[in-house]
Amino acid sequence: MNNKLYLNKAQFEAELNRCLNCATKPCMSACPVNCSPQEFIQHAKNGEYKEAVASICKNNPMGHTCGLICPDQFCMKACVRGKIDFPINIPLVQATLINKYREDMVDGVSEPENGKKIAIVGAGPAGMAAAWKLIKLGYAVKLFEKTDKVGGALNLIPDYRLPYEVIEDDWNYINRIGKAEIEFNTQVDSPLELLDQGFDGVIMAIGEQNVIGLGVEGEENVVPYAEYLKEPDKFAGAKKVGIIGGGNVAADCAMTAKNLGADTVTLFVRRKIFDMKVTKKEMQELLNRQIDLMTTTRVCKVERNGDKLDVYTLSTQPGEKGYEDIADSVVKRKNFDMIIKAIGSRAEKPIEHENIIYAGDCKIGGSTIVEAVASGLDAAKLLDTKLKGEQK
Ligand SMILES: Cc1cc2nc3c(=O)[nH]c(=O)nc-3n(C[C@H](O)[C@H](O)[C@H](O)COP(=O)(O)OP(=O)(O)OC[C@H]3O[C@@H](n4cnc5c(N)ncnc54)[C@H](O)[C@@H]3O)c2cc1C
Ligand code: SF4
Repeated sequence: MNNKLYLNKAQFEAELNRCLNCATKPCMSACPVNCSPQEFIQHAKNGEYKEAVASICKNNPMGHTCGLICPDQFCMKACVRGKIDFPINIPLVQATLINKYREDMVDGVSEPENGKKIAIVGAGPAGMAAAWKLIKLGYAVKLFEKTDKVGGALNLIPDYRLPYEVIEDDWNYINRIGKAEIEFNTQVDSPLELLDQGFDGVIMAIGEQNVIGLGVEGEENVVPYAEYLKEPDKFAGAKKVGIIGGGNVAADCAMTAKNLGADTVTLFVRRKIFDMKVTKKEMQELLNRQIDLMTTTRVCKVERNGDKLDVYTLSTQPGEKGYEDIADSVVKRKNFDMIIKAIGSRAEKPIEHENIIYAGDCKIGGSTIVEAVASGLDAAKLLDTKLKGEQK
């Protein structure tokens, strides 16, 4: 693994020593999967590294990936140390522990096989977490994934933040309790067909597949973020890049464009700067890399002009219905090489059936990895309860 992503020995020990061992465990209460930083940090402080890793992994099968990309809005926000100076970098302590000490650890206790088969559609974090939980509960699990790898939307996160080997490491950990069968390059059109094939239940963990449109003139000139982040090298060479959106996906697009040699990258953001949905670290990186933040600005038209693009923007301001356009504020901004739209995605409409459970982003909306994992675990438990109820 790329060691630069983890804490070095001195940083790791400094973070452990800063922990106040809070009896009330606010860091645990803030974690969507109820992981206890207080517990794993104390184990690590005592040199019980395997116990520390086991403490993380008993609640979170994707602890390595979460450690690298969990935002600062959960455990770190709750960390009491933040009131004194700054919060413990809990996610990075977690990633460092797992990277160094998980090795071939096999997860404990599984219930005996119960003869039931569950299909999981989608091998993103929600599907992976559901698979782990269901295998532990004694089910045979088969995943159907339309692409050729696990990880879902995590695969759009640039490598410098999240290399694929990290997702794979979590997937290997999940598979060490009992192998989940997986069929890649297989799109499932309806979960009902899986019930017809004899699966006892289906978990739909299909994420949000439909990139939200801008609904503006000239939208055909704009590249959707998923297309861009899947193969950014295809778009290398763009020197003046505009990105529509102000969240973490837009930030990833901006940093990627800069890394690929863009001279100027501008984010067009409808909101004010302090309403942008980015972490403190992302904001720092945007500013450090001299990404222009054009806030309270909405793109209303993108016009092709030879091999360049001109962008028309309107100013916005907070109003009764969120951010509203300011009349007569149109400005034409010229000569972009590429415009990317990164304002989010939408999920398909769910199919209602008692043995089909939705999980992850397709259920809760664009979220975070740890929330998707929590949702996958909940879906597995819910399906288990339903199927056990049927047995009585
Ligand atoms: C660029 C980017 C950056 C992000 N950065 C962060 C971050 O820093 N921190 C963080 O916590 N979160 C981040 N996220 C959000 C995080 O990736 C998602 O919340 C999470 O991946 C959602 O998991 P999921 O399993 O619900 O859905 P997904 O990850 O979207 O997985 C859904 C899977 O289902 C498959 N699928 C869909 N339809 C079908 C079908 N019909 N048949 C078969 N397979 C199907 C898809 O191919 C995919 O593999 C980021 C997201 C993006 C796009
Ligand atoms: S809240 Fe912060 S300081 Fe307190 S136990 Fe958790 S990680 Fe340690």
